[in-house]
Amino acid sequence: KRVDVPASEHGIDPKLVDERARKVVETLQDAGYEAYIVGGAVRDLILGHRPKDFDVATNATPEQVKGLFRRAFIIGRRFRIVHVVYGRGREHEVIEVSTFRAYLDADAAEQVAGNEKTSRKELADKSHVVDASGRVLRDNVWGPQDQDAARRDFTINAMYYDPRTEVVVDYHGGIGDAKKRLLRMIGHPETRYREDPVRIVRVVRFAAKLGFEIEPKTREPVQEMSELLSNVPQSRLFDEMIKLLQTGHARASIEQLRKQGLDRGVFPILDAVFDEARRHPGREQFVQLALADTDRRVSEGKPVAPSFLLACLLWHDVLAHWERNVAQGEPNFPALQSATDAVFDARIGDISGRGKLATDMREIWTMQPRFERRTGNGPATLVEQPRFRAGFDFLRLRGQVGEVEPSLAIWWESFSLADATERRQMLDEVR
Ligand code: ATP
Ligand code: MG
Repeated sequence: KRVDVPASEHGIDPKLVDERARKVVETLQDAGYEAYIVGGAVRDLILGHRPKDFDVATNATPEQVKGLFRRAFIIGRRFRIVHVVYGRGREHEVIEVSTFRAYLDADAAEQVAGNEKTSRKELADKSHVVDASGRVLRDNVWGPQDQDAARRDFTINAMYYDPRTEVVVDYHGGIGDAKKRLLRMIGHPETRYREDPVRIVRVVRFAAKLGFEIEPKTREPVQEMSELLSNVPQSRLFDEMIKLLQTGHARASIEQLRKQGLDRGVFPILDAVFDEARRHPGREQFVQLALADTDRRVSEGKPVAPSFLLACLLWHDVLAHWERNVAQGEPNFPALQSATDAVFDARIGDISGRGKLATDMREIWTMQPRFERRTGNGPATLVEQPRFRAGFDFLRLRGQVGEVEPSLAIWWESFSLADATERRQMLDEVR
């Protein structure tokens, strides 16, 4: 079923191919291995977009790959890959190199994974592990390229591009689907969702991001299978949700979640948002503004921090807790602090990088009452805070929905730009 598609047919512009990715492929090929650019990058190239990152697939093992590059690191356990690193600091670039993997159907997987009948030795070096629901826990059995293609999720994500010959290797009609703007799961959709329920979120994400239709057979099981997402580790689901919201298609993604009936009960954070929006229709505007603001920043190539958007999404939850704490007699500021803790724990929970995320979100929230107290040294101290900008952007959104006077944000903007004399004057005028 392998189809080799020449440049004249797929029309990829070689100038869109990253030089480092090309170098990685050529180094592997020169050492006698098969190597291709793979996955999302090929999809984006075919659609005429410049890919934001490049993955390479090869028949070399991680150890063999590592041996060919000066700075290469084997990472991951569930899914072992090699990071080939170029450059330093902010400018550094990582090319991910993965070894072709075997596609194991449920029966074959069970044999490799080991059930009661398998030997101790096989259990010890488990390279493929599946749980009781059919979810793949580890996936490190190497195999030929056609199997590597079959275990990928969508036809448009399973193509291989050789930058030397400019040939695209396509096993599942990915080029045709890309032209038809169709998202189609490879294989039997229900089985594929069971193997990895995160694919349920990915179907939504790609439909929103690419503006593709979802092929009916791929779409039909989605809502019913979404229960399986509760088996997925929280941190993986969180990463996928961040991608959903922060790659420039937040509004489209939320719309797509609604369309597929996944807006409730999948992500605790989104539950908080939609519950609140239903109770206070006016408050939905704040969330919509935050999502639009994030999409705009991404389209302008500006950085976006997960902490900012999450702080926006959960703000009304914080407000509700804060008001309740105050009503119960807690002083204003401690009441806000305990509200931030409660909301963070309930809606975000135990995920990786939690400490920094919590600190950043808490700072944005607890800065808000300080913006309304414009006396003494408070304002001068506040503008010196490293997170002032994020807190200020947050205040501006609140101003836009009328939660605070819009002039307050303007005042702070001028204040942050003013010199000492002007600042004194500004503070005098507030009084
Ligand atoms: P993006 O541009 O948004 O990063 P992507 O296609 O590169 O999209 P990644 O999550 O970076 O998405 O994954 C890279 C490739 O790995 C995918 O194109 C797909 O072939 C494969 N892949 C990733 N996650 C899965 C999964 N859960 N199941 C099957 N294949 C997957
Ligand atoms: Mg990618």
